[in-house]
Amino acid sequence: MAEDEDGGVSLRVERKATEKARILQRESERNIFRLVGQILRKAESERSEEDAAMLLLHRDAAEELCRRQRCRSVLKRKQEEVFDNAEELQTKVRQLAAAIKQANHLVVYTGAGISTAASIPDYRGPNGVWTQLQKGRTVSSSDLSKAQPTFTHMCVRMLHKEMMVKHVVSQNCDGLHVRSGLPRQALSELHGNMFIEVCTSCSPVREFVRLFDVTERTSLHRHMTGRRCCHCGGELRDTIVHFRERGTLEQPLNWKGAVEAAEAADVILCLGSSLKVLKKYSCLWSMNRPANKRPKLYIVNLQWTPKDDLAELKIHSKCDDVMSLLMKELNLQVPSYDRAEDPIFRLATPLQPEEVKSHTREVIVPLDGADDNAADPEEATDGGSSVQGGWFGRGYSKGRRKKKKSL
Ligand SMILES: [Zn+2]
Repeated sequence: MAEDEDGGVSLRVERKATEKARILQRESERNIFRLVGQILRKAESERSEEDAAMLLLHRDAAEELCRRQRCRSVLKRKQEEVFDNAEELQTKVRQLAAAIKQANHLVVYTGAGISTAASIPDYRGPNGVWTQLQKGRTVSSSDLSKAQPTFTHMCVRMLHKEMMVKHVVSQNCDGLHVRSGLPRQALSELHGNMFIEVCTSCSPVREFVRLFDVTERTSLHRHMTGRRCCHCGGELRDTIVHFRERGTLEQPLNWKGAVEAAEAADVILCLGSSLKVLKKYSCLWSMNRPANKRPKLYIVNLQWTPKDDLAELKIHSKCDDVMSLLMKELNLQVPSYDRAEDPIFRLATPLQPEEVKSHTREVIVPLDGADDNAADPEEATDGGSSVQGGWFGRGYSKGRRKKKKSL
């Protein structure tokens, strides 16, 4: 018994000693890193003989610190927004125009960068939603319901009308491609559409297009919008696909259309997307084909993208500026957005009388000052300027915290 106790005590002493040694070792390593770091920050000409000896003695630490510095500067460079000068831009747009004219099956991939001119914040830009959430800041924005298709949306629609673009695959949930007049069969909204709620109890899934953002009560993994299906009484849900969720809805996601388009594509034009998310959908990039059989990539984005090295051409400019030059090259007139012709009014299902107060979001009205037959925007607007909703990152930080805990 006494022996056992002695054994326990000596084990404990041993454990403590090991732990202490480990702490001291870590502290001494930290000290070395601090000293080496100080020396490395000096200009080489200012380093003393002692400094040089120190660097030689702790070569591993010096190399590790240099490696970390390189990683930091690469990361910083990737986040920087780069602009081509006017001459460069013109030359590149001419190249792009030639590629579009020669393409047999051009597919366009779009990201938040095409909607920034509509005052919708982008995702991974310096002030993007994702960047802000990563920094632990809250995201708010005003007047999102007043956003309307940008010049780029109208150009994409025009290129489709002229049969130069066969299909559009978008990461955006803002519904602006639909509102520009692009036919829905030519569109895949991979991450959903903030104006569409669906009843999955009905078969086939029943879709309800609304004239307001349906996601105000939804968030990460919570998709019920609070309204019910007028046919079966089932709960309606939004169509938004969040991080680590798998979207299976046929519409508006239209994965079938996106995959078929990618298979047939000989040219892919990426507009305003960091491609960090799209990159993960391997079926969009024909990576199963040998490199010379894959579609040619043309990328328009201010920041670095993971596909830059594979691109035929990378244009660093705002999408609206590129499109403006491109339309001139292609000799196309692009009509500006006309709300009276916005297809959303034709597609929308009016709310039941008892549902009119089921949301507080502003309603899109056909023309300013025109009668509104869905809800009174004055009454419906909460007056708050901070917009939060399922499509806008609500619940995202909660999801991240949860994930960290479970690690
Ligand atoms: Zn139903």
